[in-house]
Amino acid sequence: MIDLTLNNGVTLPTVGLGVFQSPPEETAAAVDTALRVGYRHLDTAAAYGNEREVGEGLRRSGVNRDEVFIETKVWVTDYGYNQTLHAFEKATGKLGIDALDLLILHQPIPTRFENTIAAYKALETLLADGKVRAIGVSNFMPHHLDRLLAKTNVVPAVNQVELHPYFAQPDVQTANAAHGILTQAWSPIGGITFYPGPWGDERRSVMQDATIAEIAAAHGKSPAQVMLRWGIQQGRSVIPKSTNPTRIAENFDVFDFELSEEHIARIDALDTGVRGGPDPDKPSDALFAREIAEA
Ligand code: NDP
Repeated sequence: MIDLTLNNGVTLPTVGLGVFQSPPEETAAAVDTALRVGYRHLDTAAAYGNEREVGEGLRRSGVNRDEVFIETKVWVTDYGYNQTLHAFEKATGKLGIDALDLLILHQPIPTRFENTIAAYKALETLLADGKVRAIGVSNFMPHHLDRLLAKTNVVPAVNQVELHPYFAQPDVQTANAAHGILTQAWSPIGGITFYPGPWGDERRSVMQDATIAEIAAAHGKSPAQVMLRWGIQQGRSVIPKSTNPTRIAENFDVFDFELSEEHIARIDALDTGVRGGPDPDKPSDALFAREIAEA
């Protein structure tokens, strides 16, 4: 396993388990399996509705809480200074832990940016109070970062964004790096390009990509493992989601091979520049309908 060092010196294990769309009844088992396989980083969110089960999986595994990097996200309906302070209480109450390793804003709300700033200021307070070890953002484009940095003091440690071979956001990666912000990849194996749901079924799945398949075959690895390795070798944090024990283990078995520069360049060349997920500059009204329950 490799650790990445954040801009405040805190270390974060490169590969984490994502739990978006992991049904609550399967989440504890997935977390337990992942921790037994060797994962030491979990990525959840208030909006996923499974923080409680993530905590349950942690306890079930018997792995010491201090050995696991726990990251969660504040949902937009909890933005605002006092609301976001309270969101920390809700998250830790559900997870059953006292402090978080990383707390991030789930996305910017460009139309209510003062609310986004107030939420981030609450994260700064939580950091100063030692309740979170690092703070950050998600789905922030470079212009959102500029607006945030102009009004706040602590540079985010992490910016979690959609990032897979079909949508690599080089401009966002460059801006993050320029500010000393670690890029963390959501949908790192392209989930957004193939999972069922309101995103539609017509999209081209990166999991079926011929170039990735060829590189995978050359290494005796799977397409998912090649995509994760591509992220790791480029210095990103990757958080693949699975509730399947075999695939959870497969996604962690990525430390025994190396992609050549040529292979990395061929994967880089697959970028379509077309996002699979929602546009952070166009938040839908539906986002504001989701209330986060008390712990
Ligand atoms: P991923 O790229 O992790 O893909 C997940 C999908 O791939 C699931 O359908 C999973 O199914 C399947 N899968 C997992 N492993 C394999 C494998 N080895 N081979 C084939 N299929 C596999 O997509 P996500 O969108 O879930 O992104 C990962 C995480 O990023 C999320 O869980 C969440 O934590 C975070 N995220 C954050 C967002 C944000 O706005 N900040 C948005 C979206 C995600 P199965 O479970 O059956 O294995």
